[in-house]
Formats: sequence, structure tokens, C-alpha cells
Amino acid sequence: MDPDKCCESGCTPCERDPVGSEPRDLCNYIDGEFVCHSSEQWKNVLQPATGERFARVPLSTRTDVDCAVSAAKKAQPSWGRLSHSERADWLDKIADALEAKYEDIAALESKDTGKPISLARAVDAYRSVANFRFFAGLIRETYAGQREHFEMEDATNIVVPKPVGVGALITPWNLPLYLLSWKVAPAIGMGNTVVCKPSEFTPMTADLLMETIHEVGLPKGVVNLVHGDGLGAGSPLTSHPDVDLVSFTGGTATGAKVAAAASPIFKKLSLELGGKNASIVFDDCDMEKTVEGVTRAAFLNQGQVCLCGSRILVQSGIYDDFVDSFVNSVESMKIGDPSDESTQLGALISAEHLSKVESYVELAKQEGGEILTGGYPCLPKDFEHGNWLAPTVISGLSVDARCATEEIFGPVVTIHRFESEDEAITIANNTRYGLAGSVWTSDLEKGQRVAEDIDTGMVWVNTWLHRDLRTPFGGVKDSGVGREGGRWSLGFFSEPMNICLKHD
Ligand code: NAP
Repeated sequence: MDPDKCCESGCTPCERDPVGSEPRDLCNYIDGEFVCHSSEQWKNVLQPATGERFARVPLSTRTDVDCAVSAAKKAQPSWGRLSHSERADWLDKIADALEAKYEDIAALESKDTGKPISLARAVDAYRSVANFRFFAGLIRETYAGQREHFEMEDATNIVVPKPVGVGALITPWNLPLYLLSWKVAPAIGMGNTVVCKPSEFTPMTADLLMETIHEVGLPKGVVNLVHGDGLGAGSPLTSHPDVDLVSFTGGTATGAKVAAAASPIFKKLSLELGGKNASIVFDDCDMEKTVEGVTRAAFLNQGQVCLCGSRILVQSGIYDDFVDSFVNSVESMKIGDPSDESTQLGALISAEHLSKVESYVELAKQEGGEILTGGYPCLPKDFEHGNWLAPTVISGLSVDARCATEEIFGPVVTIHRFESEDEAITIANNTRYGLAGSVWTSDLEKGQRVAEDIDTGMVWVNTWLHRDLRTPFGGVKDSGVGREGGRWSLGFFSEPMNICLKHD
């Protein structure tokens, strides 16, 4: 084997452009080295706010995926033999090193996704560090004492949480490092080795994570990364015979393709998919707090969060007052330069995605909707080639309208009137999705009762996106299969083996 090549199929070490230089060419990270990809193909990474190119991402192929999977497979046995607490120590080391790059994470994420810097700092940078630290603590606490065991009269059953093997971790563009770290930390913490495939639109913080992992000296091959698009890199990864588990977060249509590739060869599979979540506002809510909460739920990250409340259902007694206050609140949001500390709304991820969102606004007009507020923001010349849309509120649509039932994944919400608790629940469940929802009422008993009747994986009452990392996360219906979060992640990223010891 050529000593300059990282594996038999061949990938050569690549000279990384220094962080901060622009435009940068990114490299894959395989077997503890930054390496070139096997094709000559690249994709430009554009800043959503300005349309300017600031990096190029390799369009990797099956050859690169093979290389990464083989490195992960080679590294797994010795990594899997470390104790849980030794691996938790590695997670803490990564958390500490990432924390030192807090501002870099926020700046890169804001530039790469178009989201406001304040949000990138408070949500993306914060949670990426917290994910590593949280899983380090949880793994230590869970596996510190005696192993789980079940006594029989004449035998003892001991449950051994074994690693699954090689994991494929595939993530979308809306919360790049937040979601990647949410998978990497529990996956390697439980003894698996992984190959990551971040979104081609937002590769920058995944690169930063590899740099961090390299700096702390994580054993080679434990974490590998292949850049590229879904077809060229994602698909060969999810169907690779040496990949034992797939953790996928992305759209429902892609999730179906991933399931079709992974299921026939019995890979362990977790799918976190799209959503069309309802915010249910009852007459007895605290109006001021509800308007604030529902506005945040609707438009955080320009409405590009799978959990966003994009269907707002309001009880008839307060409908008119709520709509007035809500539209005022939406119109007061500051949209513009993502690097400005006071900006609340940034740009959409890409020109293609903007077109998709705009087409839904057009469709809403054809479906009889009234645009209460929306349009295009007036921005300085620097942003004229960015992907901008003002937060848009649409009323007057039927609850069956496509805009009211399909995932738009942008700054567009529909608002509907309901009379009774039962009607609110029926409308909330009137979609193929079942990810999340929120209920706003001063009666917590009613809030819990309604929440339990909504067919989703998560419901918040009088709050939204208030996350305790110990709780299960995931959806039902077309929003996904399985749960991650807390001990559910530890369960997904391991195989419980039972050993029965017969007594003398
Ligand atoms: P997407 O188009 O489904 O892509 C997700 C990831 O899958 C990307 O890395 C993509 O690569 C890759 N991919 C595409 N085709 C593939 C294939 N055939 N095999 C394997 N991988 C493939 O989703 P997105 O547009 O990035 O993200 C938005 C969606 O994610 C929304 O529907 C949102 O609701 C959902 N989401 C869900 C959650 C959740 O926790 N439930 C969280 C966040 C987002 P490329 O993009 O590079 O081609």
C-alpha cells in the first residue's frame, strides 16, 4: 500500500486552506487525516445572505465513502473496547476544545446558513458544545455502577450494551453542527465509529469539528467525514454493506429513500424527518406571552426548524385580537445582515429553497388565502443577491389547503380559527406529519389533555423548543421512525446483549 494513501482505494493527504481564508477548499477527513476526494468535482458554498462564494466543498464519490467506511471499520474494535468512562473523557475533551472555538462556530454557522449571529451563538454554538458535554455526563452516570441484571432462582442475566459497529450520520443544513454533534457524541460515546455526511450547503462547521477532533488527538478512524451531495456521497453511505446503523435527519422524501436503501440489509435506522406543527392558542391564554412565544415558534431561523409552529390555530373568542397582535409582533422583527447583533431574521438557505417557499405563497393566493403581512424586505445593496423573504402570515385558507398541511420550511405561516377543543385537535392532526406542537392556555390540565390527543412525538404547553436533553426526541407518521435524545440515543447507538450465567 502506498504510504501516502490513507487506504487501499486511495485518498491522498490534502493541504487545508487555513480557517479564515476565503474562498476555502474543504477536505474530507478519513482515518485521522485531511484527505483529497477522488473526483475533480466541487460545489461552490454560497453565503445565503449575499450570494457570494466563500468555500468549495468536495463532491465525493463511492470511492471516498468506501475509504471512510473501511477506516471506521478498522478503528471500531479497539475503540469499542475502551470503557464507557474512557470514551466519556474523550467527549469532554472535544467539548472543551469546541468551547474554545465558540465564536468561530457562531460566525461560520451564521455565514454558512444565513441565520442571525445572535441565534448562531445562543443555539448552534451553545448546543454543539452542550451535546458533547451532556452525553459525556449521561454515559458516565448510566454505566458507572453494576451492569443492568435480572436475577432468576438459578441464574443471573447480565445486559451488556455493545456498540452497533460503524454508523452513518447524515445531517441537514438548518442546524449543521447542532445536529451533527447530537449524533456524533452518543454514537462514539457508545463505542461505535462513524462516517459523517453533512449537507453540501453547510459544510463549514463539520470541517471545524474535524479540525477539533484532530487537535484533541481522538484515535484515528473513530470519526470520519465525507463531504458531498446526497446522490454521490449520501446514497453510497446509507447502502454500504459495512455500515451497521444509519442516523438520518432531513426531509421526509429523502428519509424514504434512505429507509429503502438501509432496510433490506437490516441496518439499525433512526429517521428524524419533516414537520407541519400546530400552535394551538386557546381563549384563556396569556395574550402577551403567547404572541411572543408563537412568533418565535413560527419564525426562528426563518421558519427553517423542523419544530417550527407553521399552522397557528386560534380559538374564536380571541381570534381577531390575537391576529392583530401577532401581525404587529411579526412586523416588528428586524430582518437583515446576519452579522448584525440586533438582527432577528436572516436569509433563506438557497435560491432554490427560496423559490420553493415563494411558490407556496403563490399557491396560497390561488387557494383563496389573504396575505396579512409578507413580501420582500428592503435591504442594502450588499444583500441584493441573497435569498430574502419577509415573514409571511396567511389567513383565510381551508385547514385542508396544501399550504396548511404541507411542510414549507420557511418564514410562512397559516392562521386558522377554531371553536372547541375537539376541533383544535382534529385540525392539528389533519396532516401526514407528526413531529411536534404547542398549546397555549392558562389551564395546564387542559393543556396536557389536548397535548395527549395530538399525534406527534413532542408537545410544549405555554412554551416552545424548551429542551431538556434527557427527554425523547422524534416524530410519528411521516415525521420519522425511532427516538433519539437522552437514554433513547444511548439505546439506539448500542445493542443490548443478554448473558445468562447459570449458578452452580
Ligand atoms: P434533505 O434534502 O432531506 O437532506 C438531508 C441530508 O440528506 C443532506 O445531507 C443531504 O445531502 C442528504 N441526502 C440527500 N439525498 C440523499 C440520499 N439519497 N441518500 C442519503 N443522503 C441523502 O433535507 P434538507 O433540505 O437538508 O433539510 C430540511 C429537512 O430536514 C426538512 O424537511 C426538515 O423538517 C428536516 N429536519 C428534520 C429534523 C428533525 O429532527 N426531525 C431536524 C432538522 C431538519 P445534500 O443536501 O448535501 O444533497
